[in-house]
Amino acid sequence: MTVDQQAFKNIVIIGASIAGHEAANHLSSNLPPNYRILLIDARSFAWWPITILRAVVTPGWEYKLTIPLTTDRVFKRGTPHQVIAPNKVISLKESSVVLERPFEGSNEVPFFRCVIATGASQPLPTMPGWNQTESEFIESLKAAQRDVEKAKKVVVVGGGAVGVEIAGEIAAHHPDKSVTLVHKDYGLLSPTPPDEIQGKVQQGGKEVGSYSSPPTDPRLSIELKKICDKLGIKVILNDRVIIPPCASPYLPKEVEDEEDEEDGRIKNAHESENQGKLPKAWNGHFGLQPSLVTLKLKSGKSLEADYVYPGCGMKPNSKLVRDVDEGALDGELIRVNEYLKVTTKNPGESIFSKERYYAVGDVCSSPGFKIARTAIVNAPKAATNIINEIKEKPLSKYSAGPISHLDLPLGPNEGAGMTNFGWLGTWVFGSRFTTMIRGKTSGTERVFVGRFRGEKKSEIVFD
Ligand SMILES: Cc1cc2nc3c(=O)[nH]c(=O)nc-3n(C[C@H](O)[C@H](O)[C@H](O)COP(=O)(O)OP(=O)(O)OC[C@H]3O[C@@H](n4cnc5c(N)ncnc54)[C@H](O)[C@@H]3O)c2cc1C
Repeated sequence: MTVDQQAFKNIVIIGASIAGHEAANHLSSNLPPNYRILLIDARSFAWWPITILRAVVTPGWEYKLTIPLTTDRVFKRGTPHQVIAPNKVISLKESSVVLERPFEGSNEVPFFRCVIATGASQPLPTMPGWNQTESEFIESLKAAQRDVEKAKKVVVVGGGAVGVEIAGEIAAHHPDKSVTLVHKDYGLLSPTPPDEIQGKVQQGGKEVGSYSSPPTDPRLSIELKKICDKLGIKVILNDRVIIPPCASPYLPKEVEDEEDEEDGRIKNAHESENQGKLPKAWNGHFGLQPSLVTLKLKSGKSLEADYVYPGCGMKPNSKLVRDVDEGALDGELIRVNEYLKVTTKNPGESIFSKERYYAVGDVCSSPGFKIARTAIVNAPKAATNIINEIKEKPLSKYSAGPISHLDLPLGPNEGAGMTNFGWLGTWVFGSRFTTMIRGKTSGTERVFVGRFRGEKKSEIVFD
């Protein structure tokens, strides 16, 4: 153990995005001086997921959603707290975590308490690759923009929040393109009778744990469909795209090699069209296709596309927990109790039995939609309970509160959402209110940049 590790009791936070960073901010102003926060992230930069789908389509936005993850940006000078990034936690032990690369001379970091805030993953280009640097990520967004620009027939697979938003972004920015959205349910998102929504959202457990189908008011599906119609997005409901298994969401190597000219792939697409041949079957790779391809639907119908966007496939990053104790998972989410402590169905044999771990944000099974607001609300609660433990005070229970809210922009000028006021019912709203609450920047300066409270100023400038 190093001198620093002996001098301080560590509060380890795994994941420095919305939930982890919020927990760190709350702890940093309340911890006794012999405790320090170690905020660990696999990536070297933080990114703002709320505007990434605009950045996938609209040039300029790629520069407005990242901030380097460094100690001087996150923590005030003179505090012992540190950001450890990029560095990945690769395994969990009862009172230590193991890092991919050494920190203070050791790969193993002991802790007093650990907060798991590892979130969820979505296929590229909806989020950065694990090993991408900030500039590589920005370049990959520019490449995605160029690919979308080249496409003529876009198919979005899945009409959950990501699918609906990206279809809206593409249709709004490129009104000339054909955009088709295929969704398994009878309405966009996950239409659920209003009297069942509140119960499901508040209950926790598997129903809330789904990423693709948080229960939503059927009127919201209708409102979204109206906006899709207005933007010229074709919506196919009650059907699924059959996704052939493939190793990587990117195009295969040989296809990349074919693209030696700027419009190579699309030229091929239209050659095959012109020759009257049937387009090749889609091979399961997302993104710009090497030629026009045919996607098969479960109904037996088929669709042509030269760009296929993954609007589905969000998965919680809970492998660290699964590796040590599957009983600490609820579905794929980390099972937490009402204090946000990781809890297990295998007490006695689990590293979680000593209750040294908390889990917050998208990765945990606490009630509420898996959205930024939930992470912002529950992360400080876990932080408060850590302080309570240090001060030997009783823990306080987490409640998601009676109100739940969801809003989705479909490009800069359209969108819809719902606010559930518990027994008072649900209010479904359209573009005017969505664009008003989102503003021009969807909270980038206030919520994202504002979270960075270190000496070194972080800035994202909008015109
Ligand atoms: C495309 C998209 C659009 C969205 N739009 C909205 C929206 O409009 N409104 C809204 O409210 N919500 C939206 N969300 C949801 C919102 O982004 C999430 O709810 C929120 O990011 C959850 O925060 P989190 O900190 O729990 O997890 P994440 O933001 O997923 O962060 C997890 C962090 O953990 C790190 N990590 C993971 N594993 C390890 C490891 N082993 N070691 C070290 N670090 C690790 C990751 O690098 C990452 O930084 C959107 C999400 C996506 C993907």
